[in-house]
Amino acid sequence: MYSPHVRREAVSLIDSGISCAEVSRRTGINRSTLRTWFLDRSLVDRYVGTDLCPRCEPVPVPPRRTDAYGYLLGLYLGDGCLTPAGDPTKGVWRLRVMCSDTWPGLIELCAGSMAAIRPDHRVSRVPSTGCTEVHSNWKHWPCLFPQHGPGRKHDRAILLEPWQRAVVEEHPEQFVRGLIHSDGSRVLNRIRRTLPDGGVRFYEYPRYHFTNVSTDIVGLFTEALDRLDIAWKVHVSRREPRYRDKHVVSVSQRDAVARMDAFVGPKY
Ligand SMILES: [Zn+2]
Repeated sequence: MYSPHVRREAVSLIDSGISCAEVSRRTGINRSTLRTWFLDRSLVDRYVGTDLCPRCEPVPVPPRRTDAYGYLLGLYLGDGCLTPAGDPTKGVWRLRVMCSDTWPGLIELCAGSMAAIRPDHRVSRVPSTGCTEVHSNWKHWPCLFPQHGPGRKHDRAILLEPWQRAVVEEHPEQFVRGLIHSDGSRVLNRIRRTLPDGGVRFYEYPRYHFTNVSTDIVGLFTEALDRLDIAWKVHVSRREPRYRDKHVVSVSQRDAVARMDAFVGPKY
């Protein structure tokens, strides 16, 4: 799949008199594909699926509110998706994020970040059991979330575009916060200790868990933690059914948990 930008450039080379064979050698695009574009210009400008739209290519303009985008990117990679909104030929997409009721304030944070990126635009909330879907319709969501593609996120490579990496590097806390709010949890580990006098005491240790099947997404999460100097551990659990074959990252050191509490909050 080539973007309109790439297609247009290849065809302009042919137009300038360079042979299809030579353009194929230079671009790596096969010759018959080049010939098809050359003969049918409507294919060159066609906007398909997840291509950047003509307004955004070759690179979309990163949203001005990069903090809101960093957070929303975390939410999207964790538990968000894009689906066509209404008539698919209109090219309008719906960004949908499932917000679990376990994080108080999440629904408003999620809706607020969508609104910050797309001001004066409707953000809807659809309550369901245990969670609320927050969504917003826009033509440019696939441009801002080029990770969208067919199938499930863990079946394909999830790589960030350079401009997205820049946002994540600028706002690692917002990115980690978004990922934790969508695919993470803050849990209390209860430990039973027998005291020297025979009495029993319980200690509670808070820790954060992040669970995702995509190794790429787990990698983005741990990379951001490294940037924040927050200690983490990862393991693949085969015993606990809830976590089977998923990659679980835990943050459990006391100072690391305190750092996370400072920006992931609310605490419970
Ligand atoms: Zn666009």
